Amino acid sequence: MKVTAVAGGTGSAKLLRGLQSLPVDLTVIANVGDNIWIHRLYVCPDVDIAMYTLAGIANPKTGWGIKGDTFSTLSQISRIGGETWFKLGDRDLATSALRTGMLRRGMTLTAVTDRLRKSFGVKCELLPATDQNLETRIDTPLGDMHLQEFWVREKGEPEVTGVHYRGASRASITAEVRRALSGADRVVICPANPITSIGPMLAISGFAKELAGSDARVVALSPMVGEAPFSGPAGKLMKAAGRKADSVGIASMYQKFVDCIVVASEDQAMKKRIEALGIECVTSETMMKSREDERRLARELLKV
Ligand code: GDP
Repeated sequence: MKVTAVAGGTGSAKLLRGLQSLPVDLTVIANVGDNIWIHRLYVCPDVDIAMYTLAGIANPKTGWGIKGDTFSTLSQISRIGGETWFKLGDRDLATSALRTGMLRRGMTLTAVTDRLRKSFGVKCELLPATDQNLETRIDTPLGDMHLQEFWVREKGEPEVTGVHYRGASRASITAEVRRALSGADRVVICPANPITSIGPMLAISGFAKELAGSDARVVALSPMVGEAPFSGPAGKLMKAAGRKADSVGIASMYQKFVDCIVVASEDQAMKKRIEALGIECVTSETMMKSREDERRLARELLKV
């Protein structure tokens, strides 16, 4: 079975690990809206979370970064007056340094990512959603800021008045992404922030159309339980976008392309409202606390 997983950050990575443990032909499409230049290095947080997780070297405590990484470079940057609000370990910096060098030599982000994932021993294809620049910007009363500035530097505190995807109108999906979406037997939308992880991908020219037109069955695992996400700022951002911060809100945002959504058992009462949107709805234990949970949910997503 050819499975294409559409992934954001930490929540998605857990399901990716589950999918990788099954006998399927897996391709991962990763969000690039949170990519950011730090110390003149091109950092791709979601691509790297997926890569490190699939390579089995992700930091289990945070879900991002590399297990056992050290922070000597960052300490030195701080000592000599640089900004250190974005935490990058020494080994993590090595990934971004190598990536930046390859990009500077003219390689596409797709080619660079392919080279890197192979070096890390990742077997499945890992595709950035686009090769063009795309940046998720959060509008606040202080002005608009990069998603990472909002969430990491400002700790998600500023009021959110809107979200926009800078560069989206000029960005298009790659041939690899098109093939992965159109040629799959099943597309899995991993649990991810719908505004800052899935939203930027949908804004890329061709992505939503390819997804909606794909012959594959498209299934999603909701990142929400009750009226909140399992983690992260999804609730605050969904409300700012005028959506309900629950699985019904997720279903309404995915209505044009999702065939079936798996929601938390606690949200059984939302099933009817989701089905009224024309989407099949299945309930399950959707929290992933162990490798067994990840594998069980991955299996369920291939069956529903
Ligand atoms: P974030 O909002 O900045 O964290 O961006 P991500 O795209 O990384 O979002 C991760 C999403 O995964 C969040 O909305 C979480 O609610 C969700 N998530 C995290 N852990 C779990 C889990 O165990 N199960 C499910 N279903 N969702 C999860």
